[in-house]
Amino acid sequence: MKANPAPPRSTEGDAPPPGAPLPAAGPARAFAAHDHIACARQTLARAEAALAGTGARLTPVRRRTLEILLEAHRAMGAYEVLERLAADGFGHQPPVAYRALEFLVEHGLAHRIRRLNAFAGCVFPGTDHAPVFLICRGCDALAEAPSAPVRAALDAVAESAGFQVERVSIEALGLCPACAARAQEARSGDCGCGHEVAPDVGQDNDGERGGGKDGGKDGGEGA
Ligand SMILES: [Zn+2]
Ligand SMILES: [Zn+2]
Ligand SMILES: [Zn+2]
Repeated sequence: MKANPAPPRSTEGDAPPPGAPLPAAGPARAFAAHDHIACARQTLARAEAALAGTGARLTPVRRRTLEILLEAHRAMGAYEVLERLAADGFGHQPPVAYRALEFLVEHGLAHRIRRLNAFAGCVFPGTDHAPVFLICRGCDALAEAPSAPVRAALDAVAESAGFQVERVSIEALGLCPACAARAQEARSGDCGCGHEVAPDVGQDNDGERGGGKDGGKDGGEGA
């Protein structure tokens, strides 16, 4: 009955064998090879525990929506969620997906990632937190990090201005360690097999990284 979960993208390649101990549940886990099946199961169990006693219920469609969001450390658009739910027999009506996503966000089991107009399963469900998101523009991996120090600084600034903060979303765009390493290799033209590589990441400087400012296409421009 259940569709096969898509392979988790952030653990492609050298994923450790199932049963290997999980890296600490901090933001680094999202970018490191790990047993994501166990990781997702653990997060789902925490989400269930967080909901217990609140009177709210993980109905089948809400649970399936959360499972879909937790399949990888990345954000997913509502439309993609809807397609997956439809494939699982929950119908094609957009409100089904939107209501489930809304429920998960409202109960702190998922977050809205505004920059991407998408949603991500919360990796710290049941804890009072306002996360900071680190989003890799190379592979779409997304990590949720605690934001206490950032928030403290922001609250101080807001308070000094007499501003009442109602909602904060902090989303940083950049490159995860693997993509940063690939971009670095590509920049140095050394991929280990002796040919020049035109990388698809790491070329358009967003301001802070890298030295050269020759963004855009590399090579192929002839004379
Ligand atoms: Zn994981
Ligand atoms: Zn969270
Ligand atoms: Zn990446």
